[in-house]
Amino acid sequence: MENWIQKMPKLGFGMMRLPQNEGTIDLDKVCNMVDSYMEHGLNYFDTAYVYHGGMSEVAIKEALVKRYSREDFYIATKLPAWEMKEQADCDRIFEEQLDRTGTDYFDFYLLHSLEDGNNYETYEKYNCFEWAMKKKEEGKIRHFGFSYHGSPELLIKVLDKHPEVEFVQIQLNYADWDNPVVQSGKLYQILHEREIPIIVMEPVKGGTLANMEPKLENMMKAVNPKRTIASWALRFVGSLEGIMTILSGMSTEEQMLDNLQTFTQFQPLNGEEYKVVASVVKEMQDMPLIPCTGCRYCVDGCPSGILIPDIFRAVNTKRLYPMDARPGMFYRNMTANSGKASDCISCGQCEDVCPQHLPIIELIREASEKFD
Ligand code: SF4
Ligand code: SF4
Repeated sequence: MENWIQKMPKLGFGMMRLPQNEGTIDLDKVCNMVDSYMEHGLNYFDTAYVYHGGMSEVAIKEALVKRYSREDFYIATKLPAWEMKEQADCDRIFEEQLDRTGTDYFDFYLLHSLEDGNNYETYEKYNCFEWAMKKKEEGKIRHFGFSYHGSPELLIKVLDKHPEVEFVQIQLNYADWDNPVVQSGKLYQILHEREIPIIVMEPVKGGTLANMEPKLENMMKAVNPKRTIASWALRFVGSLEGIMTILSGMSTEEQMLDNLQTFTQFQPLNGEEYKVVASVVKEMQDMPLIPCTGCRYCVDGCPSGILIPDIFRAVNTKRLYPMDARPGMFYRNMTANSGKASDCISCGQCEDVCPQHLPIIELIREASEKFD
């Protein structure tokens, strides 16, 4: 294993969900969290051009760069394809990032959210891989990689074409391991077989694996009552081989302390705990979800302008993660410009055309009870 990989801390500080006060980043709290994290000998900070509307990179300058020696920590940040209109935007964005963070190089630089479609095409169109290699030669980037949200097939294609990539960041957690959309397990296998160091993002699935249905939480507590629910998710990814760093987007000092405890006294999952995780995943998969295929046959004829399949997506997520606030936020944003579930007049048009024969009126009523 190369020297730089061995020096990487197991827990990385993800700076995309920083504590806030009246809509702005609470810098005092961030400084305290940075201090606790550094005191434990950890030093990997992950930000991006777009996090907190650019203010996460500024928080790095204020809480870290101005307060610690530059050689004592690593900064990782990312180039966003969706902010680019021409090749020159690579340099424009990069210079802005250096300015925001108050540094003159980045330890880790990533193409942000490489996936099938637009983002990957943009990175190729503007020769971003070659551009990053030049920045590396200039000493402005120490290590180059990308964060990934695409298919296993595209991952293989990109790795074959770009052997210069030194690491890849993927979404990895026990709930997404076999998730047919995310395919974490397959992505992990591809990278592990090629011995490409892996940085893990969303190990707790945006916090949803920290707050689960009481039934699922009780299954874990029955085996290990002292451990927090979030720590199970972190220990699952931390138990895998080939993981370089696990990012946790910590918003509170309490989360930080819990994570520090998990990693400074790290214990891999034991056989019994793996069985519990498998049972929890099975329970999650067996939860009754609305089998809407998203064909949208029902949408155009709805006199109330209700986006039925999108509402079902929110209901399904809420059924899986009752404590998660995001389905409600998604619903409110969506229905700002379309019909609410409570606008349904029970005309039955949708049920007549639904090839899945779903009891849509009844399900829309459930959505109204959950979200309106
Ligand atoms: S029953 Fe409700 S959801 Fe279905 S088409 Fe009529 S108004 Fe829209
Ligand atoms: S017609 Fe049925 S399956 Fe198709 S999107 Fe509407 S509810 Fe879903």
